[in-house]
Parts: sequence; C-alpha cells; structure tokens
Amino acid sequence: MVLVEFAVEEILSEVHFRSTTYLQKNEKLDLYGYRVKISTLRLQTFKKSIKCARCGRKGNIFKLETNSGETPHLNFYHDEIPMTRDHIIPLSKGGPDNLANSQAMCEPCNTLKADKIQRQYFTKDIYKLIDNWDLDI
Ligand SMILES: [Zn+2]
Repeated sequence: MVLVEFAVEEILSEVHFRSTTYLQKNEKLDLYGYRVKISTLRLQTFKKSIKCARCGRKGNIFKLETNSGETPHLNFYHDEIPMTRDHIIPLSKGGPDNLANSQAMCEPCNTLKADKIQRQYFTKDIYKLIDNWDLDI
C-alpha cells in the first residue's frame, strides 16, 4: 500500500553518504509521522545515480509503502517500474556488499543480468576494488 509519494530530490537531498552500517541502520527521517530509514545502502546507491546502469531509464518517483503493518519504507520507481540496487560484482561471485559495488538498475534489467558479471556496466569505483582482488574476469 502506498502511503505517500515524493519527488526524487525531496528524498535524495536527505540521503547522506555514510561509511558504516551502524549509521545507515539508525538514521531515520520523519516523513508524515513515519520514522523511515534514510541513508541505507540502497538509497545511497540512488543518490550516486538515479539511472539504470543497463538501459538508462531514470527513477522519477519515491513511494513510501507498507505491506500489512510492516514498517513503512521508501521504494524508488520509474513510473511503475521498480528501481533496484544491483551488485555490480554479484555477491555470489564474491562481490562486496558496499556502495562501490552498488549501482541503480531497473527491475527488468536486473532480472536479465541475474548473477552475471558484465564488464560493460563497471563504473570507475569498481576498478579500484578489483585492483585489490583475486578475481578472474
Ligand atoms: Zn534498465
């Protein structure tokens, strides 16, 4: 169930790049009386870029949503298409669960990408990681 919709900048201006999981988990924003996690890795990923790394589709609306009494959370959409946080190097291939290894991707593209490593989607950040990595790509 959608509680409230927000323009992209309304939300992203409140998201801050945080280095520790502790801060991400505890930092909340008051939205219409709901206390909402704001600087999660997922939202920080959208702050890095609102654009799908594969097709270029841009997220254009945030929706505060809840499912049957669960804590409300912010989801990001391009119209009705969900935007997701993609792990550039999939977790299943040893990629780290951090911001450098995260990029925005629409759900249809993320489904197609699945757990493949696709060099064409690598960002500059990821090369810094790979330098320190024993990964055959
Ligand atoms: Zn896409």
